[in-house]
Amino acid sequence: MSDVYEASADARSSAFLRSLSEYQALYERSLQDPQELWGELAKQFHWQTPSTGPFMQSNLNPALGRVSVTCMAGATTNVCYNLLDHNISENRLGDKVAIYWEGNCLGDSRKLTYQQLLNDTCRMSNVLTNQGVKKGDRVAVYMPMIPELVITLLACSRIGAVHSVVFAGFSADSLAERIMDAQCCLLVTADGFFRGEKMINLKQIADDALDRCREREKGSKGFSEPKCIVVRHLGVAPGGPGVPNRPYTPAKRPCPNLQTPWQDGRDLWWHEVMHKAHEEAPPVWCDSEDPLFILYTSGSTGKPKGMVHTQAGYLLHTAVSHRLVFDLRPSDVYWCTADIGWITGHSYLVYGPLANGATCLLFEGIPTYPEVDRFWQIIDKYQVTLFYTAPTAIRSLMKHGNEPVLRHSRHSLRVLGSVGEPINPEAWHWYHRVIGGGRCPIVDTYWQTETGGFLLAPMPFATPLKPGSATFPFFGVVPAILNEHGEEMKGEAEGYLVFKQAWPGMARTIYGDHRRYEETYFQKFPGFYFTGDGCRRDSDGYYWVTGRVDDLLNMSGHLLSTAEVEAALGAHPAVVEAATVSCPHSLKGQTLYCFVTLQAGHTFSRTLVAELRQKGKIMRRILRKIASGDPDFGDVTTLADPCVPSALFADRCRTT
Ligand code: ATP
Ligand code: MG
Repeated sequence: MSDVYEASADARSSAFLRSLSEYQALYERSLQDPQELWGELAKQFHWQTPSTGPFMQSNLNPALGRVSVTCMAGATTNVCYNLLDHNISENRLGDKVAIYWEGNCLGDSRKLTYQQLLNDTCRMSNVLTNQGVKKGDRVAVYMPMIPELVITLLACSRIGAVHSVVFAGFSADSLAERIMDAQCCLLVTADGFFRGEKMINLKQIADDALDRCREREKGSKGFSEPKCIVVRHLGVAPGGPGVPNRPYTPAKRPCPNLQTPWQDGRDLWWHEVMHKAHEEAPPVWCDSEDPLFILYTSGSTGKPKGMVHTQAGYLLHTAVSHRLVFDLRPSDVYWCTADIGWITGHSYLVYGPLANGATCLLFEGIPTYPEVDRFWQIIDKYQVTLFYTAPTAIRSLMKHGNEPVLRHSRHSLRVLGSVGEPINPEAWHWYHRVIGGGRCPIVDTYWQTETGGFLLAPMPFATPLKPGSATFPFFGVVPAILNEHGEEMKGEAEGYLVFKQAWPGMARTIYGDHRRYEETYFQKFPGFYFTGDGCRRDSDGYYWVTGRVDDLLNMSGHLLSTAEVEAALGAHPAVVEAATVSCPHSLKGQTLYCFVTLQAGHTFSRTLVAELRQKGKIMRRILRKIASGDPDFGDVTTLADPCVPSALFADRCRTT
C-alpha cells in the first residue's frame, strides 16, 4: 500500500542519517564489526579503565549453560560522572539547562543547569553515604515527577547504589512488595503532590508500605526498616518561602490540609539533610556489569519482575539510540512525557538524554489540567523540538478535537515519537497532521522494560515511515520471526518476535531470580530472546508488532489478536480508544469483551454497539473476499477508508 511518508530533501540535508541506504550500511557495519562501531561510539564517554574483552559476550541458550550477557568486560566507569562531570568538563555544558521543570499548576516551574544538577547530585550522594548506603545497596524511590527524583537517581549511580523506582501511582502494597523483594535499605519519597486537581498524600502511602514491610518481616533475621528521606514538595516550608537549596513557591500549590505522618528517628526531611551535606562527592567507579538499577515490569503479565540493568551497555545503548532516533541537536529541547516510574522515563528522560547533554523537560502534571491544551501550551512555552509520548495520550487528546491544538503554534516541533503499544493509523495521522502540522516525522519506537532501549525504530529523516510500523531494527539488534515450532520464517511472515543476539542495553537478570529470567525469555526458543510479542514482516521488510501473544485468542477456531480487534474498533469515528480482553465462553471457547471510550459528543446506544460489532465482521468478510481473489466486496461505506479493499486487492494480484 502507498501509505508511506518520507522526509523532505531539505529536512534530510542536515540529519545524521539521510537515506535508507545510509541506515542499511551502518546497520550492516554494526553486525559485522560491533567492536569497531561501538568502540568508536564509546569514545564519547569516560572510562576509568578500558575494556579488555570483546565488545559483547553472551550465551542465550539455557541448554548450553547459564544465560549471561556481558558488554565491555573489564571496563570501569561511572554513569553519573559521564552524564554530569564529563559533559561539564569535556563538552563545556555547565551553564546549559539540563532540566526545565514544569509543575502541575500553571506558572510553577524551575530550571537546573548541568552544573546545578551536579552540585545537588553530589550533596545527595553525600546524604546517601551519611545514611550508610554503600555500593551495591538498593534504594527505593517513590516520588512525583520533580527534579529531586532525577537527583536521587543520579546520586545513587554516583555512589554505585542501585535504585529501584516505584511509580508514584502504585499502592502501598505494590511499594511494600518491591521494597522487600529488593531488600532496600532506604526509601526516598515526598510529602505529596497534585495530579490535576487531585492531591496525593504520598508520605501516608509510603508509611503504610513501610508498616506492611515491618509486619511481614517481623521476626525474620536481617531485616531492618528502611530509613526514609522526604522531599517537602507541598507543605509550607519552615520560615516561609525559600528553604535552603530549594527555590520554593508554596503559593502555587496551596494545600493547608496536608498532614504528613512522621516517625522520628526514621524519617528525615530532604532539605535538612541536603543543607548539611557537602557539595563535592567523588564518583565510585563501577564495573561495566555492576547493576545500575532495578525496575519492575508493570506486572500486567504476572508477578512483577525486577529487571536488572547494568552500566556500560545500558549507557551506550540509551545514549546512542536517543541521539540517532531523535536526530538530537545541541539546541534541541526534548520532552518525553513518560513518568520516570516506567522504563521510558529511565532510558529516555534521564539516562539517554542527559548522557547526550540534552536539555530535557520534566512535567509533573497531566495533559488535561487545567485544560486539554496543556501539552501544546507547554510545547510553545519551552519551544520544544522533540516530543515523545504514547498512543493512549494521543488518542485521549484527539477526542477533544483540533481546536485546543490549533490555539498554539507548535512551530518549534521537529521530531515526534511514540511508544508503549502499536499506534493505530487514526492516531498516527492525527499526530502527524494536526500536532506536527504534517512536517514532523514520527518515530514509532518498539522496546520493553527488559530491553533497556529501542529495538525497532526508524531513523527519522532516513527511513520512509509507514503508520503503525516501528520499521527496522536498531544497530546491533537482530530480529527474527518464528513459528510455533521455533523455525525462523523468512520474507513476509507473521509469528513470534524474537531477537537472535544480545544487545548492549538488555536486562541481565531478574533480581534474585535468575532462573525465572531464563525461563521467561529464553526457554521457549533456546538461543533467542523471546519478547512475548507477535509481529508481522511485510514485503518491504517492515516490522509490525501486533501485540502480546498471550493476548491472542482462539474464538470459534479463529485466531484473533486483541490488537487487531482494537484497531478495527478504533477506526469507528465515535471511538477514541478501545481495549479488548478475552473471557471464557461456553460455546465459542473464548469470547471478546471490548471496552471503548467514546469521542466527546457521542453517546452509548444499541445502534452504536451494532455498528461496532459490524466493524469486525465487515473487515473479515472483505478480507476473505480479497484472500480468495473475489473483487466483489459489497458495501464498503462503513470502512474508515473505503479505498483500502481495492488497494489490498491490487497488492494481492501483484504478489500472486
Ligand atoms: P508486563 O511485561 O509487566 O506485562 P508491559 O509489557 O506492559 O508489562 P513494558 O515493558 O513497559 O511493560 O511494555 C513493553 C510492551 O509494550 C512490549 O512488549 C509491547 O507489547 C508494547 N510496545 C511498546 N512499544 C511498542 C511499539 N512501539 N509498538 C508496539 N508495541 C509496543
Ligand atoms: Mg512486558
